[in-house]
Amino acid sequence: MNQKKNSTMKIAVVLTLVVAVLVAVIAVFSNKQEALPSDIKQIDVTGQPSLGEQDAPVKIVEFGDFKCPACKAWGEMIYPKLVADYIETGKVQFSFVNVLFHGKESTLGSIAAESVFERNPDAYWSFHHALFDAQPVENHDGLWITPEKILEIVSGFPEIDQVLLKEDMEQQATMESVKKDEDLVREAGVAMTPSIVINGEMIEDPFDYEAIQAAIEQGLKDKN
Ligand code: CA
Repeated sequence: MNQKKNSTMKIAVVLTLVVAVLVAVIAVFSNKQEALPSDIKQIDVTGQPSLGEQDAPVKIVEFGDFKCPACKAWGEMIYPKLVADYIETGKVQFSFVNVLFHGKESTLGSIAAESVFERNPDAYWSFHHALFDAQPVENHDGLWITPEKILEIVSGFPEIDQVLLKEDMEQQATMESVKKDEDLVREAGVAMTPSIVINGEMIEDPFDYEAIQAAIEQGLKDKN
């Protein structure tokens, strides 16, 4: 082997080592970052309707829209499993934030829901599910969230004052809360509904229950 070739090889070996060390350092550094709990940027759900234990180790936020058919489907397919497996067992606190991607009807539904939440917090979740139940399976794009429909739904809730709810809808009395939700939607970078955020991390496919379970289990592990 001539000398020139020999020194070129040496340089190549040294360079490879340098790259290997750099890759190792970056891997350790990024792993460490992932493991730091302070890295988790939880969504501030102060003033949002929430289910489960306040101090549950894992926080889940659903960004949803009463007018969105996928949100209705998520509420029927995934949500009941979440309630049974994690919310009722004290592992997860679940909150809902309104998204207004479907315009006026989304806004009206959100204003009404915020009004129920303000005046009758105990009736909120039943009203929330009743509103989704009222979403037509076919032609969900057609007009269906109207003040009349909402008043018809709450006629099944004796504790809700229909006159006050009607006034709240007419005067958009809870618009401030709805705007607060819009701010959260922007901050979290929500681009579709439903969006499910677990301990600050957006789940790629909200219908992938295994991925949801994995994220929850990871969150439980990080707490211990
Ligand atoms: Ca809200």
